[in-house]
Amino acid sequence: MAELDLYEHDLERLAEYERCAEDDLAMVDGLDTWHPTAYEQHYLPGVRLAGIRDKSRVTLQNVADLHIHTHYSDGDQLERVLECAAAARLDAIAITDHDVIGGALEARRLVHERRLPFAVIPGVEVSSRDGHIGALFVTSVIEPDMSAADTVAAIHAAGGLAIAHHPFAPPLIEKLLRVKLGCRELVHTVDFDAIECTNAVPGYGRKYNIEAYEQLARRKVRIGMTGSSDAHSATMIGKGTTYFAGNEGLCSAKSALEYGFIHGAEGYWRFSEKLRYRWMLMKAVWRNLRQGGGRSSVN
Ligand SMILES: [Zn+2]
Ligand SMILES: [Zn+2]
Repeated sequence: MAELDLYEHDLERLAEYERCAEDDLAMVDGLDTWHPTAYEQHYLPGVRLAGIRDKSRVTLQNVADLHIHTHYSDGDQLERVLECAAAARLDAIAITDHDVIGGALEARRLVHERRLPFAVIPGVEVSSRDGHIGALFVTSVIEPDMSAADTVAAIHAAGGLAIAHHPFAPPLIEKLLRVKLGCRELVHTVDFDAIECTNAVPGYGRKYNIEAYEQLARRKVRIGMTGSSDAHSATMIGKGTTYFAGNEGLCSAKSALEYGFIHGAEGYWRFSEKLRYRWMLMKAVWRNLRQGGGRSSVN
């Protein structure tokens, strides 16, 4: 695990945290709906202090990667995901496996048990009939194969927030993978809380990310734009990021999403990383062609 460089201030606060650590662990194991733990809201160490140690005098700028897969669906080992999230020095990550939530809940539990220096937003990437939809701040799965509108309503009923993932994913990739990836123009009519405008998948991502930005510009309403890695390999964590301001950990992330004060950015991909990703994509397409299609895929 990446080394924590804690300030004295952080150590004092962690000692103070001992009092509610057990309550927090019980909470992450037993909640029906998402609620922030004390750790997630007040005691996360190592948040970006930009050289100013008194948090009350500054508004923190936080960085998150809001779309990550683990081995619970078709991503990397969870341990490796946690290791890479810490190494990327993110303040928060969302685990969003395809239609399963076990990895996200386990990641959140491990963060509390080990006092890792970032927070986990539990989530699912729901395979709706109209495309992939990220459900954040949920603690159970959302039924797949519903329309986008019904999926978003179900996410809201579960207390979560709905993100249109890679809404303009290339039709060719959808055809090859035999899966509907993007909700496309439905971003204008369905009640999404935010749109993933930066999905950092290399190469083909550039064009459809621009399309998402342009479509949103036409909408003329303020809505959150997220950036994510969509990492299926843990080394890609942090290639796409979402920035949000606030001093209250995950509560700041949630309200930034709700009020549209959130923005995404793309990281730098080395040539070798792009090649590795395309190799992964080709393998997924090949697997799909042989198996005759299915839900699980890259993205
Ligand atoms: Zn997807
Ligand atoms: Zn995905």
